[in-house]
Amino acid sequence: MRTLVVGAGPTGLVTAMLLAAEGAEVTVVDRDPGPPESDAAAVWQGWRRPGVNQFRQTHCLLPGGLRLLRDELPGAVDRLLALGGRQGHNMIAGTWGLPGLGGRRPEDDRYETVAVRRPVLEAALLAEAEQTPGVTVRRGVRVTGLLTGDARTAGSPQVTGVLTQDGESLTADLVVDAGGRNSPVAELLARIGTAPDEQRAETGFRYYTRFFRSADGTPGPQPPWPLCHHDSVSVLSAPGDNGTWSVTLVTSGRDQELRALTDTGAWQRALKLYPWFAPLGEAEPLTDVLAMGGTESRRLRAGVDGRPLVAGIVPVGDAWATVNPQFGTGMTMGFRHAALLRDAVRAVGFDDPADLALRFDRVTETFLAPVWDNFALWDRHRLAEIDAEIRGGTYTSADEAWNLQAAVEAVRWMDPDVLRGLAEVACLLATPEEALLKSGLVEKVLALAPGTPRYAEPGPTRRALLTAVRGV
Ligand SMILES: Cc1cc2nc3c(=O)[nH]c(=O)nc-3n(C[C@H](O)[C@H](O)[C@H](O)COP(=O)(O)OP(=O)(O)OC[C@H]3O[C@@H](n4cnc5c(N)ncnc54)[C@H](O)[C@@H]3O)c2cc1C
Repeated sequence: MRTLVVGAGPTGLVTAMLLAAEGAEVTVVDRDPGPPESDAAAVWQGWRRPGVNQFRQTHCLLPGGLRLLRDELPGAVDRLLALGGRQGHNMIAGTWGLPGLGGRRPEDDRYETVAVRRPVLEAALLAEAEQTPGVTVRRGVRVTGLLTGDARTAGSPQVTGVLTQDGESLTADLVVDAGGRNSPVAELLARIGTAPDEQRAETGFRYYTRFFRSADGTPGPQPPWPLCHHDSVSVLSAPGDNGTWSVTLVTSGRDQELRALTDTGAWQRALKLYPWFAPLGEAEPLTDVLAMGGTESRRLRAGVDGRPLVAGIVPVGDAWATVNPQFGTGMTMGFRHAALLRDAVRAVGFDDPADLALRFDRVTETFLAPVWDNFALWDRHRLAEIDAEIRGGTYTSADEAWNLQAAVEAVRWMDPDVLRGLAEVACLLATPEEALLKSGLVEKVLALAPGTPRYAEPGPTRRALLTAVRGV
């Protein structure tokens, strides 16, 4: 069966390899050129990727994503390591030395990942895909139109292939839209009268990232937790390959005063105020401040009332839904989505495109949509919280779901089981229901929570932060 994947990002490449393993003949097309060489430094410096705005932003491969790659595509993990990815980075290692938490446990190995920068991860996936029987990757091919068949499948129009910028028609039994945040497909579908339903969350964070490296290739200092929320700002660190790492200050997109963080001096002065993260900024910088906004969360619905809106084409990864990037879940969700598509193909085959589209929409809604809903809720409250802090106030809400999330964050430092419950969710190894509700940890959280401060981790007030940023 011929499958055409639009987009050779992480999701498109993993999708292609998983479908090829089912016997499909897969062509992946991408508008951007390939990497200059397969050396990590050259990939980082020289790979032009205008199709992916966040290509050189902070990225962490979560343990849930690594687990999927190890199980399904072990050759890709070997390539990651060959390019300098660091095996055995444990996401909670920074907590082992903290008092009252009991140190390392044997089962903590499950929180390990490979530390790697996004371009290097993608180069590894690409090299593996290019060597996979049944997969052909074509670069420099931009999709500009959709081919549609005359037949309507179960009342839905059917896509039978794509048109490229050079006027080439590429036909396929299934088109997979893995075009990411910038995918043209939703707009192309609208042109043929089948615009998918789109849901948008209230988001709008800005990312101010710097990359660093050690002089001798050793990893950077590890903070107790890679993402901590503070008054007005969240701080995020991600480990990289070959002795590199990134640190990011995340603000609300509405926070005009903190736009000054694009200035390297202001950024460095701000970072110094967060003692858990400050040591990460004391090494050789690899970049200036890389600022990025416009990272809205949205999600498509490809089926309605037991019928796909369109047959012969399915969205995966960021083309289906984008979530708040600060939690580092995007690529792992994309890999999972690819595996769900493979499972749907296994179950119903390619013969009935409408049935496949519908089944895939159902499993997407069952397994991935709840993750999106949780993030949408968090984003809405967090932005309102920062708005209140900008006004000099304190945010309160009657929403139990938000209050519980905030309580889990606050009490993780008081209880090693809660800490690991949160790690399960944050590493995408378990759902909140599995990790916190079914395990009975919620009761523990509720008992410990009264009286805990909203921000348990050391950091400045907004006023002190602004003073440092202004340099006065
Ligand atoms: C600031 C930031 C930080 C992030 N941090 C993390 C993190 O720590 N961990 C994590 O897992 N995720 C993170 N993410 C999310 C992650 O970047 C995405 O989830 C991931 O890129 C999705 O992969 P994808 O393959 O679905 O889409 P993309 O990576 O966007 O790939 C889409 C591909 O489609 C191609 N394409 C687009 N249009 C066309 C066309 N017309 N014709 C042909 N090709 C086309 C593009 O060139 C591109 O190669 C972050 C995102 C942001 C914004």
